Amino acid sequence: MKWKEQLLQLTPYQPGKSIDEVKKQFGLSEIIKLASNENPFGCSEKVLTVLKPAESTFPLYPDGYAAELRTVLAAHHGVNEDQLIFGNGSDELIQMISRALLGKGTNTVMAECTFPQYRHNAVIEGAEIKEVPLKNGEHDLDQMLEAVNHNTSIIWICNPNNPTGQYIPKKQLTSFLEKVPADILVVLDEAYYEYVVADDYCNSIHLLKSFPNLIILRTFSKIYGLASLRIGYGISLAETIRALEPVREPFNVNRFAQKAAVAALSDQSYVEDCKQQNREGLEQYYRFCRENGLTFYPSQGNFILIDFKTDGNDVFQYLLERGYIVRSGRALGFPTSVRVTVGSKEQNEGVIKLMGDYLSSRLLLPEMIPSS
Ligand SMILES: *Cc1c(COP(=O)(O)O)cnc(C)c1O
Repeated sequence: MKWKEQLLQLTPYQPGKSIDEVKKQFGLSEIIKLASNENPFGCSEKVLTVLKPAESTFPLYPDGYAAELRTVLAAHHGVNEDQLIFGNGSDELIQMISRALLGKGTNTVMAECTFPQYRHNAVIEGAEIKEVPLKNGEHDLDQMLEAVNHNTSIIWICNPNNPTGQYIPKKQLTSFLEKVPADILVVLDEAYYEYVVADDYCNSIHLLKSFPNLIILRTFSKIYGLASLRIGYGISLAETIRALEPVREPFNVNRFAQKAAVAALSDQSYVEDCKQQNREGLEQYYRFCRENGLTFYPSQGNFILIDFKTDGNDVFQYLLERGYIVRSGRALGFPTSVRVTVGSKEQNEGVIKLMGDYLSSRLLLPEMIPSS
């Protein structure tokens, strides 16, 4: 068979062990998954009330235009309906954008430790990848500009960045956008937008007027708690959306995701509540890190990257065997860290207790290290 040769260098996405597998392997009755930045509180009750009656529509294709959701979402963001494109998760939008713009002879610029799907899709499309190391956990925008040349088609910016949780303040972002050549698409992945509390984080939708080469990605998978339904969206100028539409499959977003998203959007007080609880959860981790002399990046997302100064896989395994699934930093470019999704207060207490036990067991508590 004549597979694209670049596929040989890729491994399929490695899903973590399933909850059932972990239960069996370690004889545990309860497992808490804090590995994929899902919403520990689930979704709004309003979602549940609209999904049940939708059962009768199983045989029908969904609305390929997502008209109802489109209207509601356009109003929510104050944009026109033709400025939106929907994806089967924002993952699919990353794929569509890559398919539309990347290929042999093109290159794409991204941070070195960021969301892996940008790189993955660029490899499949045969584009050259220019990765720029992070600076203090944040995109090094100056170096990213340096990496741009006349073959560059896309620059990926993850803001706040997964896995560090660091963000780009408005001033830096606009001054960067001013310098990007107008024929390069800048993808601003804002999967954690709704969690951000920093005052100088910008509402990027306002930037579209000045920077027509921008597309913003958002998702219903994170704060809206709909990860299993797979729905995300892009916001840009109508011209950009029109150019992308041919690479979108006609029925890419299922009916239930569309219905659920409309209901979820209507419950902004739920979103606000989750955002608040997430801040309190982050504080639990900050306190733990400070008390134990661990370094971490202050996070604008619903996750935190904590440096244990030891093999991240080791911490991961310790927690796994005790019923908590987190992400080892190894695969994320931070080999001595783990990334933990902020859970409910009790879940955070549970995993923090175990992380403390881990430190004691390894005699890494600062007071136990002989001072020189
Ligand atoms: C989770 C995540 C996504 C994927 O979201 P889906 O809409 O579920 O595909 C995209 N980008 C970043 C940075 C993420 O963390």
